[in-house]
Amino acid sequence: MIRLSPAEIRLKASVPNKTAAIRQAGQLLVDSGHIQVGYVDSMLAREEAANTYLGNGIAIPHGLPKDRDMILATGISVTQIPDGVTWNKGETVYLVVGIAAKSDEHLQILTNLTQVLDDEAAVQKLVQTDDPQVIIRRLTQAAGSGEAATAEDFDQVVNLVVEGGTGLHARPATVFAEIAKGFEAEIQVRYGDQAGNGKSLMSLLKLGVPSGGEIQVMAKGADAEAALQALQTAVEEGLEEEEEAETPQLEVPELVLDSPAIAGVAASPGIAIAPLHPYTRSQITYADTAADSAAEASRLNQAIATAQADLKDLYQTVKARSGKGKAAIFQAHQEFLADPELIQDATARLQPNHSAPWAWQQAIAERAASLEQLADPVLSGRAADVRDVGQRVLRLLAGAEAAAAKLPDHPVILIADDLTPSDTAGFDPERIAGFCTAKGGGTSHTAIIARSLNIPAVVGAGESVLDLAAGGNAVLDGDGGRLFPQPSPSDVETAQQARGQRQAQQDVEQQTRFQPALSRDGQRIEVVANIGNPAEAAQAIHAGGEGVGLLRTEFLFLNRDRPPSEAEQYDALVQMTRALNGLPLIVRTLDIGGDKAVPYLEMAAEENPFLGIRGVRLCLERTDLFETQLRAILRAAQTGYIRLMFPMIATLEDLRAAKTVLESVRASLDAPPIEVGMMVEVPSAVLMAAEFAQEVDFFSVGTNDLTQYLLAMDRGHPTLAKQADALHPAILRAVYQTVQAATAAGKWVGVCGGLAGEPQGAVILAGLGVKELSVSIPSIPTIKAKIRGLKYKQMQRLAQKALKCRTAEEVRAL
Ligand code: PEP
Ligand code: MG
Repeated sequence: MIRLSPAEIRLKASVPNKTAAIRQAGQLLVDSGHIQVGYVDSMLAREEAANTYLGNGIAIPHGLPKDRDMILATGISVTQIPDGVTWNKGETVYLVVGIAAKSDEHLQILTNLTQVLDDEAAVQKLVQTDDPQVIIRRLTQAAGSGEAATAEDFDQVVNLVVEGGTGLHARPATVFAEIAKGFEAEIQVRYGDQAGNGKSLMSLLKLGVPSGGEIQVMAKGADAEAALQALQTAVEEGLEEEEEAETPQLEVPELVLDSPAIAGVAASPGIAIAPLHPYTRSQITYADTAADSAAEASRLNQAIATAQADLKDLYQTVKARSGKGKAAIFQAHQEFLADPELIQDATARLQPNHSAPWAWQQAIAERAASLEQLADPVLSGRAADVRDVGQRVLRLLAGAEAAAAKLPDHPVILIADDLTPSDTAGFDPERIAGFCTAKGGGTSHTAIIARSLNIPAVVGAGESVLDLAAGGNAVLDGDGGRLFPQPSPSDVETAQQARGQRQAQQDVEQQTRFQPALSRDGQRIEVVANIGNPAEAAQAIHAGGEGVGLLRTEFLFLNRDRPPSEAEQYDALVQMTRALNGLPLIVRTLDIGGDKAVPYLEMAAEENPFLGIRGVRLCLERTDLFETQLRAILRAAQTGYIRLMFPMIATLEDLRAAKTVLESVRASLDAPPIEVGMMVEVPSAVLMAAEFAQEVDFFSVGTNDLTQYLLAMDRGHPTLAKQADALHPAILRAVYQTVQAATAAGKWVGVCGGLAGEPQGAVILAGLGVKELSVSIPSIPTIKAKIRGLKYKQMQRLAQKALKCRTAEEVRAL
């Protein structure tokens, strides 16, 4: 039972408008220790979203469900405004009952309020009284029992449980009554020994049904059965309860410290606690002149070739660790270095007697400066990349002593003017606890790489950070984008606790990784792995994977000089079926072409390889390769649970041709049939999904390619790749269309593109009806935990909202 004391009541208040009234109601709750100050803004935001006018001069402002953690203790406040305040047009409020409810303890108050509502004289008494006890008695007394209708009086009865955090309070009751009003039948709702008119909001509120409360819905009349069916569905779906409307929150609690902070841009999440350390690259020195320009030219070529090789390694390392998208910048750097004009220009500058580093530096500086002048921020941003590549070659030319900056051997928070992607990719997370730069933006490659390395980072914090002295521990808040250079001991302690909580969260994800991804209301989503080699099958299981949703078979064909034999492929597959021990393994047939070149296949050069002979198109041209692979797969399928899928299917003809080859190989082996699916990654496959669904067992959506083809943005493009966001509503609508077509044909849809491994993406995809999420191995525990933390209904609502968004940014902001 909720308590109300005189301190929580303000008599004879006078306020100019509704906002002031809500602020006053909130302030009473703050002063009486029920809420943090921030909850008052939440009350105002809630009012924007939905009117809290209850009727008969009473309003019940309260905050947004997502801000419930700002409630310190459940409580209410009462502001009496004898002169009234305009709430909305035609609505004047005299009694403002501010509510801060952690769960449903306030229902008694609501019940009492609604009883008052029916009684004009009682409201007047509360509005005019000088005695707070009058208000206290009226609002906190226990509800009396009344004469109630019983089931015997009705034709149809159904017992239902009201789920949701706050029971049958205003919003769900409104939804209930609205539905009930759509029917002719008389509808009564019974809770305990009370009953109320199911078509009256007030009546329903009076019942005070708490979360988990069992109600009996009774109806009589011609459409009684239909009415009960509609109400049952609505109650089971949560009556649009506020909690369901709430967006799943991905953010962590804000780190609140007392010491002064320097604000920047949050670039990579996490909390770092370590001494500051200025990041100063040793000055690269070189002679400007040299006698032998031929020798200088060869030195320059040698340095460029070494830099190219280093970049290739860096690309592979970052790609293996964090995926192609994040590594793409180093491919772009290779492109810059391969620019013949740049090399020609630098070589020309060697004459008559200049050194290679001098000539190179001149050529780079000129290019960077001309890029910087461009109005387009994306293009001008590439100047930093040109300088980064330039420095790489310059260091090689200047020799070992010009190597990267020296770093202490204990963890530090680096302070730098700016960092290049190359600098960041070389950081060891054991030693670089975090970094803060004066310049830079949150979407830079440096930020992306920091995130992939799990290094907390703040960028764009301004020049003042460069004056900070190294010393005791500083705290860097990568979520809030702040650096606390001189935190007090108690702030350090708070930060340590917050860091510990984060770690604990990750630990919980790890510990629960073998539990199924079952939503809070019981919907199962399969979380499986994307793998690229045999050893990863066991790793996937160890990480909690429930199978493999995508085996990229290309791995066996890359970095060698001839195609693997059938036996080699068979052996690799069997190694995987053994590791999976009966769990499904979706083997995707060869997807070569596009950005995956295989020199020994001697494929003709193409202007647009992503639109060329790629994936299944290559297999249909090179049936020798295709048949060998299919034989290995069909034979291996007899050692475990293998499903097969074809990549890059654009037309029914492609699919049918691929299935014909499969069938002939199967017949020649006399092997049993296996499930056959296809990747949905070409826009035509989405548009024709209904037809394709008749001819496959399942779909797996490749959001990586689908995004590049739908948005016409090369997925590896150094600048466009950032905008090629798979959370764009266009991609989500395509996924939804695919799901609808598949469902109509009784088929299921998985997603194996990168979006499935992003927590927000995974939740939306599940809400769109995707049954299987195939993600990179390290993401498995997080994605499973994310699904387990939410109701399926919440995911569905979020997904529907996302479908209505107009930009990827709007989706991310949900
Ligand atoms: C995709 O396109 O989303 C996909 C999973 O395939 P890949 O990344 O191998 O092209
Ligand atoms: Mg693909």
